[in-house]
Amino acid sequence: MKPQPATIVDSALFTGLVIQKFIHQIQVLAGDHTLMCALPPHLAAHVAAGDVVRCEPAPAPDLPRLVTVLPRRSEYSRPAAASRPGAHAPQQVIAANVDWVMPVFAAASPTPKWNLLDRFLAAAEAQGLPARICITKYDLTPSGSPAEQELHEALTLYRSLGYPVYFVSAQTGSGLVELCGHLSQGTTLLVGKSGVGKTTLLNALLPGADQSTRAVNAVTGKGRHTTTAAHLYPLPGGGAVMDTPGMREFGLWDIAREDMAACFPEMRPHLGRCRFGLSCQHDEEPGCAVRHAVMQGAVHPRRYQSYLRLKAEAA
Ligand code: ZN
Repeated sequence: MKPQPATIVDSALFTGLVIQKFIHQIQVLAGDHTLMCALPPHLAAHVAAGDVVRCEPAPAPDLPRLVTVLPRRSEYSRPAAASRPGAHAPQQVIAANVDWVMPVFAAASPTPKWNLLDRFLAAAEAQGLPARICITKYDLTPSGSPAEQELHEALTLYRSLGYPVYFVSAQTGSGLVELCGHLSQGTTLLVGKSGVGKTTLLNALLPGADQSTRAVNAVTGKGRHTTTAAHLYPLPGGGAVMDTPGMREFGLWDIAREDMAACFPEMRPHLGRCRFGLSCQHDEEPGCAVRHAVMQGAVHPRRYQSYLRLKAEAA
């Protein structure tokens, strides 16, 4: 996706792409320029990083002002943090116009936690977004080593479920060209725990990203960040990546227990075939088609365990 150029439309509004959202302002990329725009309170809940917006210029020292948020093709959201248990939780859109979710894991140091990958993938499925997996620090598993074999065995399962896998090393540069080719096709939301090499990967994809982030923080000062702090980075070769460094927990905030099985693509063909039909939770019920599929080898036992764990967490 190419950022839209600054175009003069009726009443001299210009179009831009939201890079980052603060409490009272948004940072907007318009053409080749990055600028801060005032965020009117009534629009604060309706704009997120990744949105395409129209803003109205203003004479200095006033900031240009956000006027309209254009319709989104997708959104990645979670309920607002302040909601009380039982209360209706309004959706808080963290990222707009996301095309893919990309869970990031290190090949080693730390070793991948596959149940966490299952959580990321289920969350992406719940939002209706396709996912692709990125394995960083690939140089740490030498070719032909038992660790590499183990890694590939584990990932064969995910490939068979339809999730593409990218292997990269920021250290040696291997895999980066192929990854960039994919990333140029749209906007990718990166998710992963700290320590997996997400920041190193971002720096490899965007040599200038670190500096631009620091520059913005120096201008805006402390306390201006929102709690989620999603940041969009347009890539030099086209497309963009989004990072959510402020998002500690990537939960399954909004999935009802009975919808969890549908977030596991390999379970979908078996849903509705259980003895208790759609009310089956695929746990200990007799005549469960999903558990039968596990025993037949059509659903991997480890994925089934992830399902049971996530279902127990769901509301
Ligand atoms: Zn069942």
